[in-house]
Amino acid sequence: MLSGKCLCGEVNVQLAKYTSHIHACHCAMCRTWGGGPLYTVQAGTGVTFKGEDAITRFASSQWAERGFCHRCGTHLFYLYKETQEYYLPAGLFNEPSFTLESDIFVDEKASYYPLSPDTKKMTGAEIIAAFAKESPE
Ligand SMILES: [Zn+2]
Ligand SMILES: [Zn+2]
Repeated sequence: MLSGKCLCGEVNVQLAKYTSHIHACHCAMCRTWGGGPLYTVQAGTGVTFKGEDAITRFASSQWAERGFCHRCGTHLFYLYKETQEYYLPAGLFNEPSFTLESDIFVDEKASYYPLSPDTKKMTGAEIIAAFAKESPE
């Protein structure tokens, strides 16, 4: 079990299952949302929120929602609607020992920061194909 919270403390989140291998998304939407790449913990469906009243959900695309605390602005999750799987910003958790496993949407990456040489790299097309295989509708 891993728990985290937003900056103001109104929203708490608990993960039943997670891996300490995190992923960085370099797509243009994540960059607009957070000002840079989005480092996420893949949490699956076992995610519990306390302080749900402070959560605003935004439909960022047909297939996904992004949530944030409307008191302090902390970003809380990316939800892939089809499978109800959550991806949460790594920074919500006081867990500095996460390791970066993969970089996705590397073809949309901005030029003003470097990529780690040691991660698995996937383009937007590759990641969309991988998701389509997982959930074939
Ligand atoms: Zn908050
Ligand atoms: Zn992204």
